[in-house]
Amino acid sequence: EITRILSVRAAPLGTRYVVVLANDLTESIRLDEVRRDFIANISHELKTPIGAISVLTEAIASAVDDPVQVRRFAEKMTTEADRLAALTADIINLSKLQANQALHMPELVRIDDVIDRAIESNAVVAGARNVVIARGEPSELTVYGEDPLLTMALQNLVSNAVQYSPDKSRVGVGARLVDDVVEISVTDQGVGIPKEDHDRVFERFYRLDGARSRNTGGTGLGLAIVKHTAQNHGGDVTVWSRPGQGSTFTLKLPVATGDDHVTPIPAARL
Ligand code: ADP
Repeated sequence: EITRILSVRAAPLGTRYVVVLANDLTESIRLDEVRRDFIANISHELKTPIGAISVLTEAIASAVDDPVQVRRFAEKMTTEADRLAALTADIINLSKLQANQALHMPELVRIDDVIDRAIESNAVVAGARNVVIARGEPSELTVYGEDPLLTMALQNLVSNAVQYSPDKSRVGVGARLVDDVVEISVTDQGVGIPKEDHDRVFERFYRLDGARSRNTGGTGLGLAIVKHTAQNHGGDVTVWSRPGQGSTFTLKLPVATGDDHVTPIPAARL
């Protein structure tokens, strides 16, 4: 089994010595593969809605005399176009997060505001299914980072909690300080995730049950976006879950100490 790939160069140094330069390429080759996989996945994921739109266009053209059918096809087309838009937005967001590991304009961010916005943006979908989103006491905690990115990350976690939960269940969102780390947790009473998938759900396009997840309209990129955002802020995201009982996703970020004038150093990438 090959474990490391080296590029080796040798040059004579005088008559008695040889200089050997060994460059470990293992990591860069692995990253190349990850990138190639990502692009292959993107093409595959984009093909589905584009193919559907093209078929629906033809269907509409041949059903012009039947307004009921035309309306039905047009509605389906809107769903597919929305899916395409969500997918494109997530791909762009994730690519930006991967490319810009350093934060652009970090500022002090109030966690209570981030939680409010994440709940607000999911309120309509949750309300339609009678899922109650309960928030903990205001924490008054702040972190140093980019508000829009943190809001997007928490929106994704709350949106998943609602999506993968039964009607009339409860989602809890709260923040607390553990040592120097702000822990924002999102708990649901949903389908849960088997232990062997706990790491994999953060991979791009990984879905537990392809058909089920795709039907819920997800892009398969939400948790990858959360993970990259956490890491770009010097933090991380973890999951606790039991199938049938529910899940808790916890976004962990270094608390702002008041003298944060430098961007947190991102944790190891990918
Ligand atoms: P998606 O757009 O498919 O939701 P994500 O990256 O957000 O993509 O999540 C990846 C997969 O992890 C989902 O398809 C789903 O199978 C699983 N998952 C995410 N959040 C939850 C949750 N709260 N409860 C159960 N399963 C979840």
